[in-house]
Amino acid sequence: MVQELQAISSVADNAASHVWPQSALRTPSGELQIGKVGVVQLAAEFGTPLFLFDEQDVRMRAREFAHAYLADNIGGQVYYAAKAFLSVAIARWVVEEGLGIDVATGGELAVAIRAGVPGEKLLMHGNNKSADEIRSALEYGVGRIVIDSFDEIVRVAAIATEVNVVAKVLVRATVGVEAHTHEFIATAHEDQKFGLSVAEGDVEEAVRRISKLPSLHFVGLHSHIGSQIFDSAGFEIAAARVVSVAYSIYDTQGIECQEFNLGGGMGIAYLPADDPLSVDAMAIHIRAIVIRECEAVGIPIPSLCFEPGRAIVGRAGITLYEVGTVKKVALDRGERTYVSVDGGMSDNIRTALYGAQYSVALVSRTSLVAPILCRVVGKHCESGDIVVRDAWLPGDLSPGDLIAVAATGAYCRSMASNYNQVPRPPVVSVLDGQSQLVLRRETFEDLLALDPFAG
Ligand SMILES: *Cc1c(COP(=O)(O)O)cnc(C)c1O
Repeated sequence: MVQELQAISSVADNAASHVWPQSALRTPSGELQIGKVGVVQLAAEFGTPLFLFDEQDVRMRAREFAHAYLADNIGGQVYYAAKAFLSVAIARWVVEEGLGIDVATGGELAVAIRAGVPGEKLLMHGNNKSADEIRSALEYGVGRIVIDSFDEIVRVAAIATEVNVVAKVLVRATVGVEAHTHEFIATAHEDQKFGLSVAEGDVEEAVRRISKLPSLHFVGLHSHIGSQIFDSAGFEIAAARVVSVAYSIYDTQGIECQEFNLGGGMGIAYLPADDPLSVDAMAIHIRAIVIRECEAVGIPIPSLCFEPGRAIVGRAGITLYEVGTVKKVALDRGERTYVSVDGGMSDNIRTALYGAQYSVALVSRTSLVAPILCRVVGKHCESGDIVVRDAWLPGDLSPGDLIAVAATGAYCRSMASNYNQVPRPPVVSVLDGQSQLVLRRETFEDLLALDPFAG
């Protein structure tokens, strides 16, 4: 019964409001408003499916991160991880609020450049950056290149020489810790594609090679331990390992690490019960750990950098869908109601890809009809095309109703595809009663334009 009550009033209600954007409100008629704009009007103007971003929410999180990690003298740059969602507008918002941007491809770099983000505010990642990507980054003056392999040391050094710059580099360390939500595992053999192994001594060897190349300047170490992390335990182990490598580099090579970049991964609430540590609390814990570990071994405390993605944009975004068909399917016991929407795995692959869970609500009207167990599915030709596996939605849900899925700001539009030749949905931002197109909807013509035989 408790669950049912929450489902009826799940938007901007105390019980569940932390999964919805900051400005989400229910009007007396039951319509959801974001940034003081009603979703019915937005759906009429821009169509569905539609990604909506609460601009105030994105800016507030960016500011929160910038301040939390700059709170004392060891705060370095916080970079927004562009892969979570990137457009020119978003890049400008986060940079205006004090963040830099972490890009991992030439495409992400191109958007950041077009947004006018200064080179020194950019950091480039990637386990297989192409020569063109490295050249573009160095020509633009990207502030940090994160070295991910021995091959890359030689490649970046050669291109930096050609471009006639000294590239500032970090070495990505695989610390043997992997964290997800509130669990972390120490992986002994570090069997994954990113970074250089701490355990095998590869990080130290990389620094040794970098220090001999005049076109490279070693700035510090990088570690990224996972995603959707709710507490600081994984960061604690990672920080301790990074500090011990930094100590060993200092001790044996006399080289100081000026900067630690501890990556991203700070989690957000998708479900009402999710309870991630606050930005401030996480920052305080992590800083304390780094300071303690550095003091313990007697090395200077480096400046600390981070790369949150999801935590900046995840909660700010929602997906608005129109209900198309409602079908009851008999189960061994009881029945399940399949609610089909006008999008699906092409705009949200996370449920199919890793069993992600979401909160969903009827947002175009009020219903006093008791909730029933539903499965929200898409329109694609796959039975795995599920948006929300188990959802409590009002029993009178009907074609034409609008439903919204919360916390789709990260890794949904950025992972969207054209599966079934479905054009990707637009992104609209809302603020103070105004809406603005951030990315337009793709058209069939956009898709056909790729096909030279389509004439
Ligand atoms: C994905 C990623 C991030 C951002 O992760 P979030 O979970 O969105 O915060 C940051 N840094 C690196 C290297 C990444 O791969």
